[in-house]
Amino acid sequence: MAWFKRVRKPLEQAAKKESRVPEGLWVKCPSCGEVIYNKDLAATLSVCPKCAHHFRLGAADRLRMLFDGAWEEYDSGLQSTDPLNFTDTKPYRKRLEASIAATGLNDAVICAIGEIDGIETSVAAMEYAFIGGSMGVVVGEKITRAIERALDGRLPVVIISSSGGARMMEGALSLMQMAKIAAALARLDRARLPYVSVLTDPTTGGVTASFAMLGDVNIAEPKALIGFAGPRVIEQTIRQKLPEGFQRSEFLLERGMLDMVVDRRELKPAISRVLRFAIARAAEPEAAVPVAMGTPDGSAPQS
Ligand SMILES: [Zn+2]
Repeated sequence: MAWFKRVRKPLEQAAKKESRVPEGLWVKCPSCGEVIYNKDLAATLSVCPKCAHHFRLGAADRLRMLFDGAWEEYDSGLQSTDPLNFTDTKPYRKRLEASIAATGLNDAVICAIGEIDGIETSVAAMEYAFIGGSMGVVVGEKITRAIERALDGRLPVVIISSSGGARMMEGALSLMQMAKIAAALARLDRARLPYVSVLTDPTTGGVTASFAMLGDVNIAEPKALIGFAGPRVIEQTIRQKLPEGFQRSEFLLERGMLDMVVDRRELKPAISRVLRFAIARAAEPEAAVPVAMGTPDGSAPQS
């Protein structure tokens, strides 16, 4: 045993706060360390010009990026009534008030109708800054109405997800929104109207398990976290180490869970291409689909 023991205190680490939402004049890219002037970042749609890291983008910026010009917003006044009178570390009502003050929104989604490259479209964009973009009764109702408006006006639907999943402060009522939105999307499908789902960082929980994965085309942004349960929970359950890049867009694309991974700077043209294609296909008569393994008159092949 040593006579003297020097207890070395570790140098105090500077408070490392990972800022994903750019603030102030300059912002440091969390991926490559590049210091970027905020105005330059706005010009590149919040994508790092050096390494193409995608910063998180708010719902209003999403709409600005997607629409050609002005849009009409719907149901902006809907607010949660706190149906369970829920309290965890603080009352849910207080959380709502704080989020409303911080974001200027009444809940975690903006629903609007506008034009994408001249195609009138019903768009819902989720806001992660509002209680983690969680889906409660208001988000469920607003998205359902956005789909129903598309049905009435025969418009395509685009939903941009950015969410931690269902809102636990509204319990089973928030889980019911999964079925409600999925049922509305089924009606949209029967009406032969296209739905493009855009999955951004992060899209998890009940949102992934319902409408985010139900697109006619599912498009994700690069390196977005997309999953149902978190990696720690999965590792504990299956008792296996998860592979590199697990639950990231590129990994999911490789395994057939997504149709495309698209850089944000290419996103608008990609969406408008898909919409144009889907609208043209829906206009064709259904009989144009050939019968597999048969001759044109429907009889069995001869040779
Ligand atoms: Zn970077």
